[in-house]
Amino acid sequence: MKKRTKIILTSALTVTGLLVAAGGYWAYKTFVPQETPVDKNATVSSNYYQAINKKWLEKAEIPSDQPANSVVYELGEEVKERLKGDVKNLASEKEKSSIEGMDDFISYYQQGSDFKQREKDGLDPLKPYLKEIEDLKDLDDLAAKAADWQRRGLSLPFGFDISVNVENTNQKQIHLSTPSTFLPDTSYYQDENAKKSMMQPVEQAAQKALQLLGYSEKDSQRIVKEALDIDAEIAKYALSSEEASEIKKQVHPKTVEEINSYSDTFKFSEIIHAYLGQEVDQVNIPNPKYYENFAKVVNDKNFAKLKSWMLVRQAGAASNLLTDQYRLVYAEINKAWQGTKEASSKEDDVYSQTTTVFADSLSLYYGQKYFGQEAKEKVAQMVDSIKTVYRERLLKNDWLSEETKQEAVKKLDSMILRIGYPDKIQEETKVLKTDSQKNFFENTIAMSTAKNQYAIDHFSEPVDKTQWSMPSFDINAYYSQIDNSINFPAGILQAPFFDAEQDMEKNYGGIGMVIGHEMTHAFDSNGAEFDEEGNMKNWWTKADKKAFEEKTAAVAKQWDGLEIYGGKVNGKLTVTENVADAGGLSATLEVVKKENPKADLKLYFENYANIWRNKSSLQFNQMLLKIDVHAPAELRVNQQLKNIQAFYDTYPEIKKGDAMYLDPDKRVSVW
Ligand SMILES: [Zn+2]
Repeated sequence: MKKRTKIILTSALTVTGLLVAAGGYWAYKTFVPQETPVDKNATVSSNYYQAINKKWLEKAEIPSDQPANSVVYELGEEVKERLKGDVKNLASEKEKSSIEGMDDFISYYQQGSDFKQREKDGLDPLKPYLKEIEDLKDLDDLAAKAADWQRRGLSLPFGFDISVNVENTNQKQIHLSTPSTFLPDTSYYQDENAKKSMMQPVEQAAQKALQLLGYSEKDSQRIVKEALDIDAEIAKYALSSEEASEIKKQVHPKTVEEINSYSDTFKFSEIIHAYLGQEVDQVNIPNPKYYENFAKVVNDKNFAKLKSWMLVRQAGAASNLLTDQYRLVYAEINKAWQGTKEASSKEDDVYSQTTTVFADSLSLYYGQKYFGQEAKEKVAQMVDSIKTVYRERLLKNDWLSEETKQEAVKKLDSMILRIGYPDKIQEETKVLKTDSQKNFFENTIAMSTAKNQYAIDHFSEPVDKTQWSMPSFDINAYYSQIDNSINFPAGILQAPFFDAEQDMEKNYGGIGMVIGHEMTHAFDSNGAEFDEEGNMKNWWTKADKKAFEEKTAAVAKQWDGLEIYGGKVNGKLTVTENVADAGGLSATLEVVKKENPKADLKLYFENYANIWRNKSSLQFNQMLLKIDVHAPAELRVNQQLKNIQAFYDTYPEIKKGDAMYLDPDKRVSVW
């Protein structure tokens, strides 16, 4: 229901972030917000993460409109305050920016913040879109309109994204996608109780919204019930979070004949032709299961229900763009799912909506204004030191053949590094224009349509691999498979992750570990499938690949079923991130010892625990266990460190039998 930021070119499939964004994910079980329990007597030997973060965990509070408090949240708030101040100065012309898009951003932000006008506009701006759905005559009519609707962002029971061809990542490719389900993971649909409690706030919000839009109570109930029926059908064939975490399982190139065989009514090749204005001879279907069963979901018998499903989706997609009452109706879903006490403020919602649309211009603006050359140089030096040690470690690796080692080193040496912010805005950003004749809702739709049109017009051009997939003001970092790059936005290059003045050990336990983590993504079970240029291609000998798979399986097995927050870790879902954390720790520990044999490793381990300090509602934590490829922060610290001998050497008080102790023969590592 909640819109997620869509990265059109480098699809989520190929970008691996350090952590998930807090917004947009939800928890369940009981809707009374509960805090995750903390052990006040934690020691280094019983719970390292809680012992090191004791003071913070005791004092920190979860803000009433948030599911969590953490370093990432705190830094994100600072960024937000800075940018909000800048918006004021730019709007009053106290400050000027010559960066393309900034004037349009300010006008868009002002439109969004003109709550009086938004109340006056009411829900009318959305109604013509709902009418288009209501006026649909039959499936043939929908097929005829599908290309135009896709371009304008109306909801459809299928979708085609302009993405990359993973087998040749210079080329773009159409991906036939599966519609998202109302609940955040398919596993909720297999558990009647979970489904019922998660779906209840969705049902209520959708019914209320439809009534605000003028539907009678009876009609609203019927429409929502029908929409839920279709959603349940889609959920049968959708990918679970675990399935979606494996890239190679989502590569299924299909011919025109194949995609046309899924439905008698929808000739997908013709719809794609109408959309793109050109023929394609191959598309990728990340999830063929949905299309193989397409006729069971989309058929004449279901037509009325499908319309209801489209109405509910369309109404939900506009939740942040209309009146405050309308916004608050939908906010109930996140409150229930995330265990938050109240909805985020309308000002904060305008901030996230507008900074997401204009992320690219703001990325350049923020970087130029707030990111210094000194930090850039220092971090680049750290990357260099880590890369050198990483190379040495690959070469002295004892389970790879010489042949595969050389390939791995080639991939490491070809890795592209980006620090801070992009040096120019993307061409597609230039189509974002705020039209003063249009209202906030209409401008949002118009800009999204213009971006789609830009992607269509430039479909045949090679993929622009210089683009960042994250703005400079994000507190995050990522590895991109398609260009074999590691990327560190300015936002994360701050204390406690990084500070030019703090001890070397702390910097390596912070940003150093993040750098090593992103590098290791090139060699996790997804990265292993891609070569040094970012194309999906095998570069392993058979025996080495087998050894690698055994090692990653051992990591998955160690983590699988670990109990926390009343739930369990999914070993397969989290394996790439756990391998990345472990690789980052091994490499940076070696760098620290190399730079200073007498280094104080306590500082290193303490800062590693510090960067992950986190206080979340229990509901939020439980939900993340189901959908997040990252393990819970507490285990990213405790479980990882249990596998490292240097940790035991640093803390000799940890003895066999302690919760923080793991027998040497049970410890695992890959890199
Ligand atoms: Zn990661």
